[in-house]
Amino acid sequence: MSTFKALVVESSEPYTVRIRPVSPDELSPGDVRVQVAYSSLNYKDGLAITGAGKVIRSFPLAPGIDFAGTVLESASPEYQPGDKVLLTGWGVGERHWGGLSQQARVKSEWLVPLPKGLSLQQTMSIGTAGFTAMLCVMALEDHHLDRARETLVTGAAGGVGSVAVAILAQLGYKVVAATGRSQESAYLKSLGASEILDRAVLAGPAKPLETERFGGAVDTVGGAVLAGVLPRVAYNGSVAACGNAGGIKLETTVFPFILRGVNLLGVESVMCPKPRRVRAWERLAQDLPLEHLNHMTQIVPLESVPALAQKILEGQVRGRVVVDLNA
Ligand code: NDP
Repeated sequence: MSTFKALVVESSEPYTVRIRPVSPDELSPGDVRVQVAYSSLNYKDGLAITGAGKVIRSFPLAPGIDFAGTVLESASPEYQPGDKVLLTGWGVGERHWGGLSQQARVKSEWLVPLPKGLSLQQTMSIGTAGFTAMLCVMALEDHHLDRARETLVTGAAGGVGSVAVAILAQLGYKVVAATGRSQESAYLKSLGASEILDRAVLAGPAKPLETERFGGAVDTVGGAVLAGVLPRVAYNGSVAACGNAGGIKLETTVFPFILRGVNLLGVESVMCPKPRRVRAWERLAQDLPLEHLNHMTQIVPLESVPALAQKILEGQVRGRVVVDLNA
C-alpha cells in the first residue's frame, strides 16, 4: 500500500518530531480508514507537539486531536467509502494515531457525519475548540443563562474563546470578552463582543464576593482568572469551565457557591456522549455565523505546525488554526 505524509512524534527521550512518509500499517486499529483533508491546532496539540505536556501516550504517534475527511474503507455498516466525516476527542492524537496525518484509522462510533450546512474545512475551523465552546454554551443554557445580564468569556482571543464570543453574541447575549491582548479588541468586537475587559482585572486580588455582574461565564483560562470570575457572577449564575491555559490551581472561597448559589460547571469534550455531540454540531451549523468563522481562521500547511505549536502555548495564536493536509 502506498505511503502518505504525517507529523510524527517518534520518541519521548529525546522528544523527537518529524514530518515523514507513513505506511497504513502504522495506523492504530479501527473499522474505518479516513483520507484526512483537514485537522486543527488546539492547545492540547501544542502540548503534544512540543512535549511540554504528557499528551502522547505511545510512540511513534501522530498528534492531532481532531480531523475531517472522506471515508476510504469501512467495515462498519454505518459508513461507506466517500462519506464525509469528522472526529474530535476519544484519545485520538493522544493514545490513538491522530489527525496531523493524511490518513487515520478509527472506531466508527467515534465519527460524526458531516453536519448539514458545513464544509470539511469549516468543521475544522470550528474543531475541538469550537465544539467545546458550544458545549460550554449548552451547559450555561441548561442552567438558565440570564439574558438581562452580561455574559463573560475569558481567554477570549484564543480558539475556544473566539467561538464562544461569536456564538453567544449571535444568540443575543451581551458578551464581555476578557483578554490579555488589548491589540485584539477590534477583532473581538468584530465577533460581537460588546465590551473588552483586561484579563489583569480578573487575575488580580479579589474579595470573596465582588459586585454581582455576570449572568454566566465561559472560562477557558482557569487559575487566578477563574478565581476572579467566581466572585463576580450574579445570584444563581453559572460558570462553564473548560480550560487551564492560565494554570490548574484554583484558590477561592466557598462564598460564591453558598451565598450566591453560583454553579461551577465542568465541561469535557473528549468523552462527550454521542447524542449531545451530534446536537452540539447541529447547533454549531445553525448558531455560528460563517463570516465570523472565516474571520477567526488561518489555514496553514503541515510544515507550519511545529512553530505554531510553540506559539499557541505562549497564548500568541489568535482564533483558530486549520491544517490543510493536502497543501
Ligand atoms: P488558545 O491558546 O487558543 O487560547 C487560550 C487563551 O487563553 C489564549 O489565547 C489567551 O487568551 C489565554 N491565555 C493563554 N495563556 C494564558 C495565561 N498564562 N494566563 C492567562 N490567560 C492565558 O487555546 P484553546 O482555546 O484551544 O484552549 C483553551 C483552553 O481550553 C486550554 O486550556 C485547552 O486545553 C482547553 N480545552 C479544553 C477542552 C475540554 O474538553 N475541556 C477542549 C478544548 C480545549 P487572551 O490572550 O485573549 O487572554
